[in-house]
Amino acid sequence: MICDYTGAKYCVAVSNATAGLHIAALAAGLKKGDEAITTPITFLSSANCICFVGATPVFADIDSETANIDPREIEKHVTEKTKALIPVHFAGQSCDMEAISDIAKKHNLIVIEDAAHAIGSEYKTTKVGSCAYSDMTVFSFHPVKTITTGEGGAVTTNNKELYDKLCAFRAHGMHKDGDMQNTWEYEMRELGYNYRMTDFQAALGISQLKRLDVFKSRRREIVDYYNKNLGLPHLIERDFSNACFHLYPVLVD
Ligand SMILES: *Cc1c(COP(=O)(O)O)cnc(C)c1O
Repeated sequence: MICDYTGAKYCVAVSNATAGLHIAALAAGLKKGDEAITTPITFLSSANCICFVGATPVFADIDSETANIDPREIEKHVTEKTKALIPVHFAGQSCDMEAISDIAKKHNLIVIEDAAHAIGSEYKTTKVGSCAYSDMTVFSFHPVKTITTGEGGAVTTNNKELYDKLCAFRAHGMHKDGDMQNTWEYEMRELGYNYRMTDFQAALGISQLKRLDVFKSRRREIVDYYNKNLGLPHLIERDFSNACFHLYPVLVD
């Protein structure tokens, strides 16, 4: 259903978005000695997933009008060691993915979108999670997020190789292929984790996903109301964005 919704080819359901970010970092091949660039204005996991695999997080500053990572700031922090970019769609508004993807192509970097805030959001003509401008996108279904599975998350990708790696890292590094099919046999080919989503969680997610567009229009209505009536400085939505807002941050001097 997430593939249908986002337009991505593959989707791997996981126990939470932190687990999703961890296996995305592993699938990306991020390791000790590597650097990955992310934003300082986010939840802990965007940087922690870099540390989980022994790599070093590097922070690039935000655009103060959107609170999203500023592509010009990313460019300043790219070094020989940079291997990945982890933009976060803060409050639900997509980052400028075309600019980020251009930097990634120029320097041969992997892009992992932390879309924990942004299921239902759109960037230009694409849904966040389509991976049109990235290698992988990670969603969170924690109770505070736009849709919930109690705890849960998902990783989308259009790359079969990454998809196979994500599936293996989610389930103990186990593989069952060739002659092993229809037998009790399996092989462990890398060190994996137990990051599966349960069927109970998935059942709730299926029902939540059907209501996502209704949630989105109500959230946009509320944001519009706050913009008109709160009288406080707030984040600006760019023309390329049609956000399913998760948060409404106000800017206080
Ligand atoms: C909530 C959140 C996460 C972690 O999600 P969990 O499902 O709780 O692990 C990661 N990144 C961001 C930006 C978040 O807001």
